[in-house]
Parts: sequence; C-alpha cells; structure tokens
Amino acid sequence: GKGLAVFTSGGDSQGMNAAVRAVVRMGIYLGCKVFFIKEGYQGMVDGGQHIVEATWSSVSSIIHKGGTVIGSARCMEFRERAGRLKAAKNLVARGITNMVVIGGDGSLTGANLFRTEWSSLLEELVRTGQITKDQQTKYAHLHIAGMVGSIDNDFCGTDMTIGTDSALHRIIEAIDAIVSTAYSHQRTFIMEVMGRHCGYLAIIAGLSSEADFIFIPEDPADPTWPQKICQKLSQERSTGQRLNIIIVAEGAIDRDGEPITAEKVRQVVVENLQQDTRITVLGHVQRGGNPSAFDRVLGCRMGAEAVMALMEATPETESCVVSLDGNQAVRLPLMECVLKTKAVTKAMGDKDWENAVQLRGKS
Ligand code: ATP
Repeated sequence: GKGLAVFTSGGDSQGMNAAVRAVVRMGIYLGCKVFFIKEGYQGMVDGGQHIVEATWSSVSSIIHKGGTVIGSARCMEFRERAGRLKAAKNLVARGITNMVVIGGDGSLTGANLFRTEWSSLLEELVRTGQITKDQQTKYAHLHIAGMVGSIDNDFCGTDMTIGTDSALHRIIEAIDAIVSTAYSHQRTFIMEVMGRHCGYLAIIAGLSSEADFIFIPEDPADPTWPQKICQKLSQERSTGQRLNIIIVAEGAIDRDGEPITAEKVRQVVVENLQQDTRITVLGHVQRGGNPSAFDRVLGCRMGAEAVMALMEATPETESCVVSLDGNQAVRLPLMECVLKTKAVTKAMGDKDWENAVQLRGKS
C-alpha cells in the first residue's frame, strides 16, 4: 500500500483528533500504510519513535478529546533546508509519499515548500549516500493535502476552520455564567476573546449573547467610541437592563491602529458611568475542552476528503487544502488560499481594512 502520514502542527484546536482519526481510518480502508508523525515537523525531522504506524484501533476513543493526541510543536529546524533534508530521509525510510497536514497557514506553507523541494532533497540524499537510487525513483513524488485547524476562523477559502465552533461553545458558556452573576450585582462585564486578526469569534459570541458592544480588528473603532459606548450602556440601563456585556477581540484596534484593550474600555466605562465593571480574559479556556459535534463531523469529513484527494493525485496535482464551502467539503489550491490569507493580514497591517474584509470573502 501507499505510505501516508498525518501530523498536526502549529496551535492546537478542538476537532483535530477527529480529523486524524478520519485520515487513519480512510487511509487504512483504501489500503494505505498509515503513519502518525508525533509533535509536528519536529517529529518529522527527528524521526525514530516519532513516526509510528497507525492501526484502526489506535484512533479509537479520541474523537471526543480536545487538543491533539499526537502532539503539536513549532519547529525552527524545518524552516531550514538542512532540517527538511532530515525529514525527507525519515519519510523515504518509511516509504511515505503522501502527507496530510493539519495546522495553520504557516504549517501549510512549510508543507508546500517541502513538496516543491522534494526532488532536489532526494537528489542530495542520493548524492550523499543516505538513500539509494531505487528509493529515489520509487518515492519520486510527494503529495500534500492540508486542513486548517484554528479556533480563529481566520483562513481564506473555508467557511469554518476546525475548532472555531467548539471555541464559540466555550465562550458562550463563559458569557452565560458571567451573565448570571452580572445580573445579580448589576455589573458590566468586558470579555476579551481570541482573534488577533479576525473578529469572527467576537462577532458570533456577541450576537449570540446579546452583547451591547463589540470591538474587532476589521472594523477599527472611530475616535468617538468612548461616547458611543457610554451612550449605549446608559441607554440599556435606563430601559431596565441590569447588566452590560462588552466583547473585545484580542486584536481590536482604533482608526490609528492603536489597540483597544479591555482595560482601556473599562477605564472609559468606570470614569464616565461609574458602573461596577469587571474584565474577564478567556484565554486558553477557548482552546480547551471537548470538541462540539460540528467540529467532530467537520474533522471527519475533511480527513476523509484529504485522503481521497491524495489517492487521486497525479505527479502534476498541486497541493490542496480541504475546505468547507456551503456545507460541502471541497479541495482548493493550497498556496492560493495561504497567499490570500497572508494578504488579508498584510492589508490589516497596512490599515486597509476594507480590502482586508473584501479579500477574506464570505468567511
Ligand atoms: P497557528 O495559526 O496556530 O500559529 P501555523 O501553522 O500558522 O499555526 P506557525 O508557527 O506559523 O503556525 O508554523 C508551524 C510550523 O510550521 C513552524 O514551527 C515551522 O516548523 C513550519 N513552518 C512555518 N512556516 C514555514 C516556512 N515558511 N517554511 C518552512 N516551515 C515553515
């Protein structure tokens, strides 16, 4: 059977295990020899016990677990050719020529670079006597399929990234818990949620929790935001609302590009309205806990599609990323989506927010 490896890289997210499980089982079902690569690219570079053969039962009882059971890591070595050479040798030694990468845009970029370099890496391995000519011929082509695991929903091309829905569940649970205590004491709560470049979590959390105000990176607050927020909060209180909820995305900014922090918002509210105002930073709670049903099924569908894409690939097939488009799992050109995602980040850095929103498209 064909050698197929799966690994998770970059920040973890809920639903990654469902994706790993689907890759393993679909791979075995289609007759592949499937491997886990533990600890992301670091495990690929280090080889040895980091690359282990997977069995049908080795992915039992992981679908409900958060994080990634095969580990994730950042790896400086893989950014250098010397590291990628070691990784190539480790893959060839096990006959792996198909890879499913689950990670963010950095991990996907690395995988694609590896693929474009593959033949020259094998050439060098033959020249230095580390693999044979026969191995070079047999494993001449590397195929890549990616999936995006990220709670931020910040990747262009997919309606939802794996983990976003579960993170929203965590946020909503936290807001609901806080609302009950805020109600009792007539408090104002400011919740900081994740999203350095993407306000998706803040917006959806805000809509589903009746928040009074939301700050996001894509829609920088105009200079009158302190007056606006105070007016809104006092208006709500005057009509009988006993509490206020304000959501601040971690990357929220004003029109000058200055961060709008939860603390800044708190000062404005306290100084102007003298409301009892507390801050809750949700932090890594958002990444933790069990994946939602949506993320489990999303991981399953994407994992299965990724393996099918690899099995249908020819030497000419470009690397793909499996995405969700209107509830369909589809294959899109990997680098096109990565470059678009990077262009969004750049446009935001350039304070060209309109362009950023346009580039990001419907997701
Ligand atoms: P997250 O969005 O959670 O940060 P990510 O996949 O974008 O996920 P990165 O830290 O950018 O996270 O990348 C993860 C790993 O992928 C890096 O530690 C490195 O090993 C590899 N990688 C990233 N970019 C490249 C690149 N340009 N060339 C080679 N390898 C890369």
